[in-house]
Amino acid sequence: MTDAAVLAPGSRIGILGGGQLGRMLALAAAPLGLKVTVFDPDPAAPAAQVCDQHTCAGYDDVTALNTFAAAVDVVTYEFENIPTAALDAIEALVPVRPGRKALAVSQDRLSEKQWLEGIGLTVAPYAEVNDEASLSAALNAIGAPAILKTRRFGYDGKGQARLSGQQDIPAALDAVAGAPSVLEGFVDFTREISVIGARGLTGDVACFDPGENVHEDGILSTTTVPADIPPALATDAVLIAARILNALDYVGVIGVELFVTDAGLVVNEFAPRVHNSGHWTQDACLIDQFEQHIRCVAGWPLGDGQRHSNAVMTNLIGEEADGWLANGARGGLHLYGKAEARPGRKMGHVNRITPKSK
Ligand code: AMP
Repeated sequence: MTDAAVLAPGSRIGILGGGQLGRMLALAAAPLGLKVTVFDPDPAAPAAQVCDQHTCAGYDDVTALNTFAAAVDVVTYEFENIPTAALDAIEALVPVRPGRKALAVSQDRLSEKQWLEGIGLTVAPYAEVNDEASLSAALNAIGAPAILKTRRFGYDGKGQARLSGQQDIPAALDAVAGAPSVLEGFVDFTREISVIGARGLTGDVACFDPGENVHEDGILSTTTVPADIPPALATDAVLIAARILNALDYVGVIGVELFVTDAGLVVNEFAPRVHNSGHWTQDACLIDQFEQHIRCVAGWPLGDGQRHSNAVMTNLIGEEADGWLANGARGGLHLYGKAEARPGRKMGHVNRITPKSK
């Protein structure tokens, strides 16, 4: 790597997507002296409130994308469903990190599972579903219970339906609105964990300690660190994240979700971006996932992400954020600047920190 690949303070990072992840990325860029332009169609985007430039335009607005890309030194993103045409326009002008491969693999649950298997990792049994006949055949092959998930655009449990037998097929197809899907066998897990990993421009890899996740209604509720798993399993989880990072020739932070089973670790999915289950790092590590990501995309060396405390991160969903005064009483409160607390909407989170136990 030449020095020219390292962005000096004063350089500008473009972030596609101005939600809470973009906001926390922008907040992490500031102490490094790096400027941020956020691209988001929403005039009130959470990230736009904390950076000095906001391109307020749609992801199909090629003129706006060109102007945005021409004015920044590197582009990163906070969500994986970026239209291909938008990436084409940007990539013609400026590097996009993480790169195309990570997006291409993770945008489609089917290609993601095939790719993960291809690098030797274990995923839930799965089959492609396009209609009633293929769903019925898949359910026969995999067995019940099983989960039908849309191949694209699913998040926070949306675009998913559980099936306990053939009688559930019509409702499941309704739930995914007939979209191309994947049927997954239900994994009998004892815990859900995730690893937030990072890979720099020179190929260095560092991972944060695995966190243990609890979901409610398909939405992450809490992440607890350290996860209550044996050290060997924690090492396995970190090695899985590292294998994914290296195989993708990745630059930036990734979130890898894993199921812990009696037979070992099963990869659920990965997100090519900073991840909700990594928010605990803000208050329990010297360098959090957001700074680590900014360092990677700016070509800086990886920072020290060692954990100095135990942490429980609790998402504040919908009206839960109204309790900000009590939630923030001991610190660790992070609110996203969203005006309207709709049910199921992530409004903020609180990190409760205690002395490190192990
Ligand atoms: P996902 O959108 O794939 O991350 O799924 C959301 C949540 O649903 C997961 O975190 C699990 O709690 C649950 N889930 C998803 N897929 C499976 C599966 N194959 N077996 C068991 N639980 C699952």
